[in-house]
Amino acid sequence: MNNFAIKKVKARWVLDSRSTPTVEAEVHSGKGSGRAMVPSGASTGTHEALEMRDGTKEFHGKGVRNAVDNVNKKIAEHLEGIDSRNQEQVDRKMIELDGTDNKSKLGANAILAVSMANARCASSGLRKELFEYLAGMNKDDAKVLPVPMMNIINGGMHAGNGLAMQEFMILPSGMKNFSEALKAGAEIYHSLKGYLKEKHGKGAINVGDEGGFAPPISDTRQALGAIMKAIEISGYSSNEIKLGLDAAASSFFKEGLYHIDGKKISPEDMASFYGKLCEEYPIASIEDPMHEEDFDGFRKVTEAIGRKIQILGDDVFVTNVKRLSRGIEMKAANALLLKLNQVGTITEALDAFRMARKAGWNVAISHRSGETEDSFIADLAVGWNAGQIKTGAPARGERTAKYNQLLRIEEMLGKKALFGDTKL
Ligand code: PEP
Ligand code: MG
Repeated sequence: MNNFAIKKVKARWVLDSRSTPTVEAEVHSGKGSGRAMVPSGASTGTHEALEMRDGTKEFHGKGVRNAVDNVNKKIAEHLEGIDSRNQEQVDRKMIELDGTDNKSKLGANAILAVSMANARCASSGLRKELFEYLAGMNKDDAKVLPVPMMNIINGGMHAGNGLAMQEFMILPSGMKNFSEALKAGAEIYHSLKGYLKEKHGKGAINVGDEGGFAPPISDTRQALGAIMKAIEISGYSSNEIKLGLDAAASSFFKEGLYHIDGKKISPEDMASFYGKLCEEYPIASIEDPMHEEDFDGFRKVTEAIGRKIQILGDDVFVTNVKRLSRGIEMKAANALLLKLNQVGTITEALDAFRMARKAGWNVAISHRSGETEDSFIADLAVGWNAGQIKTGAPARGERTAKYNQLLRIEEMLGKKALFGDTKL
């Protein structure tokens, strides 16, 4: 009997950071065991794999009893006996059992929880750290600590203010290592808190879904200006700290126009707005500048500013190789935002990762706005040497779980550790 063979798979519901239930799964073999929880988005891409919700009275329709039952009653028995070290076989078995394009039969939340728990089960059986195990899956050697993309002002669908764009981030890409980068992020976060409180009153320091502040402002430049001020107060330079935006433009695109900063503007004017912002501020990355179906608009933005900055595709590609290959062919961006639950298995996410890398694109591993205390993506970012991680403000436990795990990994790697993405 192979001791690494899966003996038991089990799931339950747990709460995420927005007090919404999500799926937690456990996988046990004779050698080890693993547990994992899946996150959940708010500004989800239309083409993401299906997150199964019960739609009944409990939890305002957001229960996950069916997804949990699918793990316990439909997935578990089919995985028993499979070698937990064969992630691809485990994932392919679930893809086959589901049989749909978007995992709508079993639920991507059910499938991903098992996929992640299985990787942990295998790594624990092998007595390896998760990041080392994930590196092996990609036939690579883990060594690169990612630049943390820290979302310190929240807007869009993640906050109750008037900012159209969803995320205003700092990217401490010029710091010498991850711990210094995180320290800078935390210091700037506190300077921003003080600045916002003084300028707009104490209501301005309430936070949004990802732990960034949600001040009562509605102008893009005002948000960027506040962050520049906080960087200056903290004593950092624009060589050390760059800015990043996630416009999440689908969320403010209505009837052909972008509703932003009190105006309704055309896609062409939106593209030139990004160009101007890049001249005025040290912006290194813009995510989802156009709405998710506008591949051509993405291409135009990339053509205009993609040589200078990173154009990151999230809702547009949804970690899906079909949409990504179209994006690569069209030169619709130059970087992929990778979210495991957009596609539903580690194996398929690795396919997307490799496709992006083969095209010479940057990759940022990402959390969701609804998160858990699971730090899996921290290990994933290092294991696959992604070079960037987006996991919210350096505040709130579900966000710091990832950043703190990266501190531990940096310590474990010691002298071998590298930092960041040279192309950022
Ligand atoms: C994002 O859009 O990049 C994001 C993290 O938000 P959500 O999880 O709500 O899609
Ligand atoms: Mg996004």
